[in-house]
Amino acid sequence: MEICAPGSIRPCAEYYSDLKNDDGTMLDFNDPAISINDIWNGHEYIKIRETFLNDQEPEGCNKCWQLEEQGIQSRRQREMQQFDGVFPNTVKANNPKLLDLKLGNLCNLQCKICNSEFSHNWYKDELRIWGMYNNKNPHTNWTQIDENWNDIKEISTDLNTLYLSGGEPFVIDRNYELMEHLIKIDVAKNIRLKINTNGSIKLNNRILNLLKEFATVTILYSIDDIGKNYEYQRPPAHWEVLERNFKHALEQKFIHVDIITTVSLLNCLSGSRLEKWCNSVGYPVERIFLNYLRSPTFYDISMLAQYQKDYITSKLGNNYIDSEIKQYIKTQHEELTDTPASKVLGVTTHKEFDDLRLHMISSLEETSKLSLQDVNPEIADLVYDKIRTNK
Ligand code: SF4
Repeated sequence: MEICAPGSIRPCAEYYSDLKNDDGTMLDFNDPAISINDIWNGHEYIKIRETFLNDQEPEGCNKCWQLEEQGIQSRRQREMQQFDGVFPNTVKANNPKLLDLKLGNLCNLQCKICNSEFSHNWYKDELRIWGMYNNKNPHTNWTQIDENWNDIKEISTDLNTLYLSGGEPFVIDRNYELMEHLIKIDVAKNIRLKINTNGSIKLNNRILNLLKEFATVTILYSIDDIGKNYEYQRPPAHWEVLERNFKHALEQKFIHVDIITTVSLLNCLSGSRLEKWCNSVGYPVERIFLNYLRSPTFYDISMLAQYQKDYITSKLGNNYIDSEIKQYIKTQHEELTDTPASKVLGVTTHKEFDDLRLHMISSLEETSKLSLQDVNPEIADLVYDKIRTNK
């Protein structure tokens, strides 16, 4: 079960929508009367589990099935691979065995592909650019509601896996509090812990001493690009800091270190550079998990017009990442009218998506030190529509 910072809940981050109450309203964990056990035993959640038990595919899990059909590894397959044999009775359990918690949207970065649901730094620019927030429950924090926070702590005693992200998990106090609690009540030793970090915070002694108490520890570093391209996409991060922290993490033998790369329009031509860097730090390229961005839609490469896809494909090589991206771009597509942007902003054509993207990039560059043209001229040519020969 994934509990997000705004209080919305999904079976996992790839699921197509937030879970709803029986009356169709959003299931909101900011409500002190709602418990995890109620959610787990709610109509929609039971139906998902029953569908799996009947050997069928829940509709909301379509993203995984679609990827698998094309021979692209899905999150479902990846989780099964990592946790093979660990979840024999999960589907029939009384409570979730895996919690994926976003204990707030406090973050020290404001990545281009992110929004105010995950980083509070986005509030100001969303209001400036769109006149509204992306976050469904802006400025709420269910972790400050005693009933819900205690519910998390209680259920955690029964867990075998805990995912922590954010925001940036290492700047969110509640993450430390939860880890300390699990150690204190002597259950951390049973829990497989996975933390998804932006890599800007060094694994200092306080963090390492907490992590050592868990059964296994995986730290997933979000690394989408290198050098100035990285800094453009994840302001105000510094590449040297990320690189130093990542190398330090690799030295911690009890930690399994992984890289997750979210593939978007902004980094889809950076695969060979990223692979070269991985080789230089001794990280096996084939272990990079490629996560294909769906939102914001205007950075989703599967949603580009055909001439834009052709342009990207013509620039991709035959290395591991490029080959995977080629396959993705060739086979994946969603209707423009089915996207959040079309539903909220009424954007339904390629031209309107292009305009939206351009508006976003130009607006952010008004206050940014780096420009897309400087760090990534090939993608800037697409964004500024210099590639179209046949209008
Ligand atoms: S580090 Fe993560 S949460 Fe923070 S802004 Fe970037 S993508 Fe969003």
